[in-house]
Amino acid sequence: MEEKQQQEIDLTKVYDYAEYPDKKVSGRCDNCNSSYFKSSVKGGIFLRECRECGLKKSI
Ligand SMILES: [Zn+2]
Repeated sequence: MEEKQQQEIDLTKVYDYAEYPDKKVSGRCDNCNSSYFKSSVKGGIFLRECRECGLKKSI
């Protein structure tokens, strides 16, 4: 049986913050732990993109 591993992060996907809140520390990237984000609004949806790895979440 395959062991259940930590969910891999898909950088091409936009994660929904409600479903995938910051796991470790709020305001830090799950993937690289960076606190530098780029914000944009698209179609009324607030996007937060990590400047280091590009992980995107809609907030
Ligand atoms: Zn990151």
